[in-house]
This record gives sequence, C-alpha cells and structure tokens, in this order.
Amino acid sequence: MSLQVCETFTSIQGESSFAGWPCAFVRLTGCNLRCRWCDTAYAYEGGSTRSVDRSVDDLVEEVRATGCRLAEITGGEPLLQAETPELAARLAALGLTVLVETNGSQDISVLPPEAIAIVDMKGPTSGEAQRMDLGNLSRLRARDEVKFVIGNRDDYAHMLSLLPRLDTARNTVNASPLHGALAPAELARWLLQDRLHVRLNLQQHKHIWPPDARGV
Ligand code: SF4
Repeated sequence: MSLQVCETFTSIQGESSFAGWPCAFVRLTGCNLRCRWCDTAYAYEGGSTRSVDRSVDDLVEEVRATGCRLAEITGGEPLLQAETPELAARLAALGLTVLVETNGSQDISVLPPEAIAIVDMKGPTSGEAQRMDLGNLSRLRARDEVKFVIGNRDDYAHMLSLLPRLDTARNTVNASPLHGALAPAELARWLLQDRLHVRLNLQQHKHIWPPDARGV
C-alpha cells in the first residue's frame, strides 16, 4: 500500500473555508489535466528528484507528528491513486479534519465519508472544462466544498450556469480570482452585484509568500 508523493510540507491552509489554519499537506504526483494556468506543474511527474513511493503507514506517521489538526491531500490529482481513500480514512481516524482537493474530473464517491472533498470545477480559461465529471455536483456530501477559479467573465458565466445545480446553503462554494489575471476587487464586485451566496477565496498562501513559492 503505497502512494507516489511529490512533496509533504506544513503550511497555512490558503483556500476554502478552512483558510488560515495550520495544515499538513501531502501532495501526490501525477495529474490527468493540463490547465493553462496550472501553478503546480512540477507535480505532474514530481519534479526532477522528489517524487517517491511512500507507504500509507509512513505518511500517516509523518502527518501525525506535525501536530496539525488539519490535513490536506492534494496534487496533481489525488484521486488517480488507489490508496488515497485509505490515506484519508487513516488520517481521519487520528481525529484530524481531512481535506482532499480534487480537480473535478474524478468520481469523489470513492472517498470515505469522514473526508471533506474540495472539488474544483474548471472553467473555460483552464482549457479543461469539458473534462469535468459534473456528476460530482450531485455526489457532494454535507461538508464538501466546490471551487471555481475565475479568470474572466466567461469563467464567471460558467460558474453562474452551474450554481443552480448546487445547494450553496449546504456546500460552501468558493470563487478564486485567477492570480495575475483578475483583480480580487473585480470579482468581489461581481459577487456583490449578483448577491451570490459564494465565498471569495483569495488563496492566502499567495499573499503571505511569493506567488510562485513551493512547499507553502
Ligand atoms: S488539475 Fe491542478 S495540478 Fe492538474 S493541471 Fe490543473 S491546476 Fe495543474
């Protein structure tokens, strides 16, 4: 039982309604998408030297030793690896809150009920909108969240088209301005104008540290 791991690190959770909390991250190697604005392309193949096979036991022990009460399994695309649900379940069994950030193309129902899926819904700007598994919108459990990265009005219109399929009172919907493409104030203005029950998601790690910093 092992996983291909790109990197592990402890940082401040930058996104979702859990933003701001210390968090132990496990970034898995490999992604089936190639978003135009990807900021973790080094996770496709794990970079030049760092992708390693790690056992579930080993990863659980490393995360436990961080002392964080929040953990996130991310990528790349974590649901491409068969042991990801087991890792999520084992971390949750420690009493941790476990987030799994997934790119929206994979069926989230493989996750254990105690994990919280943060499901990306890629818009037109990504070039990968047609690869989304829209069935995930009806598979969301009570604590799961959805994230839209908004680079322009086309992405915003795409989000608007999918909102009727979501229960925004139950599942937090996050809208992130695409860094360097859309000013946060502009997206804030659109959200307020339309009175949407959608959370402005500012990717805190890109404001705390340089936007291209790794391991944060
Ligand atoms: S899904 Fe994530 S890791 Fe994969 S290409 Fe898109 S942004 Fe990059």
